[in-house]
Amino acid sequence: MIIDAHIHCSGEETADDVLRALDQAAVDKAILLAPFLSGGYSLHDSDSLHSANRHLARLIANHTDRLIGFAVVNPSLDNACEDLRDAHDLGLHGLKMVPAGWYPYDDCAHRIYETASRLTMPILFHSGIFIDGKSGRFCRPAFYEAIRDHAGLRVTLAHLGWPWSDEANAVGLIDLINGISPDDSQFRFDISFGAPPVYRLEVLRKAIAVLTPELLQFGSDVFMPCSGELIKNRIDEVSALLDQLDVDKHSRERIMGGTAAAWLRAN
Ligand SMILES: [Zn+2]
Repeated sequence: MIIDAHIHCSGEETADDVLRALDQAAVDKAILLAPFLSGGYSLHDSDSLHSANRHLARLIANHTDRLIGFAVVNPSLDNACEDLRDAHDLGLHGLKMVPAGWYPYDDCAHRIYETASRLTMPILFHSGIFIDGKSGRFCRPAFYEAIRDHAGLRVTLAHLGWPWSDEANAVGLIDLINGISPDDSQFRFDISFGAPPVYRLEVLRKAIAVLTPELLQFGSDVFMPCSGELIKNRIDEVSALLDQLDVDKHSRERIMGGTAAAWLRAN
């Protein structure tokens, strides 16, 4: 089974567009993120986030066997916890958070973690450099150690934290050192590539060696609507790297679907 654990909505896609692309790429299930980077949507505006979350809830409504909706909530806005409860009521399963103007250890973020923990909603965090060229400094992997104050939370750090991939590996390694089974770990990591091609093999090699495939999951990081071909290309890129690293079949299955399936089950 292939789970694409990181797909962006733009607000312009239909459920048919998404399902067609997944079928073309032979992807079984996808985590879809409410739009916040395109289509006029903004992270910094409550009304925009409300309409983004409503759009996503409508999109997945009749397809929750394959499409898993992640709301976008900005903790620094008023009523963010209420927004998260609303998103949960709309049928959204988890949330995506992008630190931009707030740090993952800030009080406002802890309030969201408490609410997410109570609602058993998993969180996907952006980690590493950020596309706006301004917010990367808020997204360093070690800042997410704040999650450990909320034992019930199960989160994913995206992009292996690049360019701070060693730091991301260190954060994820702690639970393994303490003998916590990967499915119970608070942290897992998506391998959607922040790193430019020249870094990728090395970044993935170290992540597999340190975190094991049990804490790694595939995400294409594409923006809908897009062709299945594009997702397929991302899958092929990962396959080629796994070939070069001599990764066995069981580990590949874990990275391409097993880790995300366990994460989603736990929440
Ligand atoms: Zn992304």
